[in-house]
Amino acid sequence: MAEPLRLLCFDLDDTLWPVRPVIIRAEHRLRNHLDAVAPEVYRRLSAEDFTAFREARLAADPSLRHRLSALRRLVLEDALRTVGYADAEARAVEAFEVFFDARNDVAYFEGTLEALEALSRRYTLAALSNGNADIQRLGLDHLFAFHFNAEGVGAPKPQPAMFEAALQRAGLGPEQAVHIGDHAVDDVQGAAAVGMKTVWVNESGAPWPGPGPAPDWTVPHVPALLEIF
Ligand SMILES: [Mg+2]
Repeated sequence: MAEPLRLLCFDLDDTLWPVRPVIIRAEHRLRNHLDAVAPEVYRRLSAEDFTAFREARLAADPSLRHRLSALRRLVLEDALRTVGYADAEARAVEAFEVFFDARNDVAYFEGTLEALEALSRRYTLAALSNGNADIQRLGLDHLFAFHFNAEGVGAPKPQPAMFEAALQRAGLGPEQAVHIGDHAVDDVQGAAAVGMKTVWVNESGAPWPGPGPAPDWTVPHVPALLEIF
């Protein structure tokens, strides 16, 4: 007999909330903060300067590609130091906090929190994200038994490390777990590769782009999971 499903893993960005408006607003707040406390930054540096800082940091340490908080903090530090602040590191930490606060102020897709509440009464829920959303700051820690991100695990989805960490933490085999996410490769292909069941959250109703086998289920949004699980 098949083992019962016990663990539901969720992607965060673009699965529980649309991420683009969150990042745009967070960058806007960061800019306002710097304009107030370090106006030279945006007066003297262009978008190309920031891109150059970013690329130099990534070239020096490729692991920063999935350590998004550290990367953003270091780029801010480079910018502040370049325009002449001796205390660039402390100022970068403070500026990052402004960004990070806004980054964790999200507008959930309709009905999502209610659906997570209902599912959390029947299953163990986990969050698996390549991004740097913070479950505590989001106020979601009462719903998720645990969470992993690329920065903590040391490798982003679709690599197996994050999915395997979740199975190990829950003490379950892959056939007892399902991963739910919007990304065909990072979420669906990655989870299927370790043997987990998969749900593709396909808000736009696009055809399955592949590669690899289609997901076990496709839903337009998280509340539709209540019809499956
Ligand atoms: Mg996503």
